Amino acid sequence: MSAILESIEFRAEALRIGGARLRTARAIDVRNPYTGERVGTAPMASLDEVRRAFDIAQAYVPTLSRYERSAILNKAAALLRERTEEASTLITSESGLSKKDSIYEIGRVADVLNFGANEALRDDGQVFSCDLTPHGKKRKVITTREPLLGVITAITPFNHPMNQVAHKVVPSVATNNRMVLKPSEKVPLSAYYFADLLYEAGLPPEMLQVVTGDPREIADELLTNRHVDLITFTGGVPIGKYIAAKAGYRRIVLELGGNDPLIVMDDADLDRASDLAVQGSYKNSGQRCTAVKRMLVHEKVAAEFTERVVAKTRAWNFGDPMDKSNDMGTVIDEAAALRFQELVDEAVAQGARLLVGNQREGALYSPTVLDRVRPEMTVVREETFGPVSPIITFGSIDEAIAISNGTAFGLSSGICTNRLEDATRFAKELKVGTVNLWEVPGYRIELTPFGGIKDSGLGYKEGVQEAIKSFTNCKTFTLPW
Ligand code: NAD
Repeated sequence: MSAILESIEFRAEALRIGGARLRTARAIDVRNPYTGERVGTAPMASLDEVRRAFDIAQAYVPTLSRYERSAILNKAAALLRERTEEASTLITSESGLSKKDSIYEIGRVADVLNFGANEALRDDGQVFSCDLTPHGKKRKVITTREPLLGVITAITPFNHPMNQVAHKVVPSVATNNRMVLKPSEKVPLSAYYFADLLYEAGLPPEMLQVVTGDPREIADELLTNRHVDLITFTGGVPIGKYIAAKAGYRRIVLELGGNDPLIVMDDADLDRASDLAVQGSYKNSGQRCTAVKRMLVHEKVAAEFTERVVAKTRAWNFGDPMDKSNDMGTVIDEAAALRFQELVDEAVAQGARLLVGNQREGALYSPTVLDRVRPEMTVVREETFGPVSPIITFGSIDEAIAISNGTAFGLSSGICTNRLEDATRFAKELKVGTVNLWEVPGYRIELTPFGGIKDSGLGYKEGVQEAIKSFTNCKTFTLPW
């Protein structure tokens, strides 16, 4: 066990409902995926407790001014930046993500808070004159955004324990909404920590309740409670589609899985392309919805590109997540690591070639490169949510586009070429939410629109500005002018 870990306090968490910390009779163990040690427990809410959270949220009328919301979010950002070491260690201890990854995540969370603070100050209302056509009138239309009438349910995945939560909570605070948050039971401690930071910064606790529990017991209540106006969910496709079927007459924002390609054309600088390939594949232990999950490489440069990717993969340090010299820690749990091994073994049995990796020790899974991969193999047809780099070759841009579009997903993509004509074709023809030229598919800033189409989402975006639009009702007011 590392020295830093020993200094982390065991966190026996409680529900956050209406400003109270409620302990529950039952609790879920949270274990460090690297050491197997218990680092805390998450409370298991009963149905009654979940209902109470919604009742309290619904009964509360937020009155914070734009200035006050902005000040709370900026203060929370400042507190978090000061506590980077403690907060990142908490993320690492419950998720197994390396300290490099968790420190980076804290910076992102603080950015979300600062962007939310800025947006809270910005009135995005529009003014229209009505005398624009022959039958126009001398009137004006003014638009204004109002918080929802009911409560927002937010459900988040494990892969960025704090940043996924921040992307739900911050736009809700910025718009004076009320939210019931259910973070992933695999990484609940970072979510409770984040909520406490906001309360400390002055957020009225009724505006944010946090519950955890057994989804089989409480998920349906979170989706169908009579006070729920909007469900915002980030996670996998099966649960996303379950929510879509269950939600009924409610707004839903779904940010689901991805199967993002990095496409390397024959003119690409292969050193730069292979850098993007390994970073896009292994950062955050490959557990990003926008991780590079397929490398599509022009056959003319495939051998040289593969050689570079293999060399850089061998140099990617992995091991004890608390050791700051490691680039990568574990994946979320041993079951996930076993699944990657199975998928890679299956691909090898079907003719793929294992070039490096596919070693496992508990939840530690080594970065893995495979070539001779065909698009129909499970390892690339489905989402492999871990540090696996399958290389697929193509002979023409038409083929690259067809392979890229040939999965059920449509989240993001990265393109390596200097030919403007090719870059433009990819930008137009890839059926995805994002096309990044000379960047990893995961590149974004926290403010900008983000989200996918097809099985990756319904096209409603996240990113602080877009979330603010989904989390509000637009009202128009017209007057003589
Ligand atoms: P998951 O779908 O297994 O779980 C997500 C959340 O849903 C958890 O909080 C879980 O407790 C909850 N849940 C479980 N059963 C539920 C039910 N019946 N109703 C409602 N909620 C329920 O996802 P995960 O394994 O935590 O995360 C990995 C997945 O998330 C990957 O597929 C990844 O691509 C996706 N993801 C997408 C984005 C994006 O922005 N598009 C970002 C990150 C992760």
